[in-house]
Amino acid sequence: MKRSLLFFTALLLTACTFGGARNTDGSGNLVVMQGTGKVWPIEGGGSRKILLPFGMHVTPDATNNPIDPPERFSGYHVGTDFEISQGEADKVINVYAVCDGDINSSGFVEGYGGLITEYCTINNEKVTVLYGHLAIDSLVAAKTAVTKGQKIAILGAAHSHDTDENRKHLHFGIVKGWTNDVNGYVQTPEELNLFMDAKTVLPL
Ligand SMILES: [Zn+2]
Repeated sequence: MKRSLLFFTALLLTACTFGGARNTDGSGNLVVMQGTGKVWPIEGGGSRKILLPFGMHVTPDATNNPIDPPERFSGYHVGTDFEISQGEADKVINVYAVCDGDINSSGFVEGYGGLITEYCTINNEKVTVLYGHLAIDSLVAAKTAVTKGQKIAILGAAHSHDTDENRKHLHFGIVKGWTNDVNGYVQTPEELNLFMDAKTVLPL
């Protein structure tokens, strides 16, 4: 009896170690593993392509845009875009809070479709975290408290109201301060200073 319990415990520990930050509990929330204490904002985060990183300047011209076909935006990208892989067009992709915080807004915003903004404090700095292109039916409501790793939405379908006609992907942005600024692009490098590179909160 004792021996089988020990064996089971060892098995469980092994599963946790190798499952890393992608382990989920019964309700689909991420289990935050000890160590970095950081989580990805999207299921499968560490293995996803990032074609449009923080600070990249794009236009709708295909020669000046990594997205094929290019989207309609111009300027310096203030977020990090996580792409889906082949075969995920119809798959449910979970989106997770990267920090303990309060949902400031939740709903449709032009350019994003479903958007959640969350007020957090990261490294003693107040920040507003943006999660964009989400299925509107799936959004956690505004004015609720969420915890790091909690599922807050799923990605919206490509070229639908939920993504405001964009491709299926996650726009993940961090604005310095607690604000209602929901810009996805800015027009000058100076304005980029109002935002934080998402790398600072990702488990890299
Ligand atoms: Zn984006």
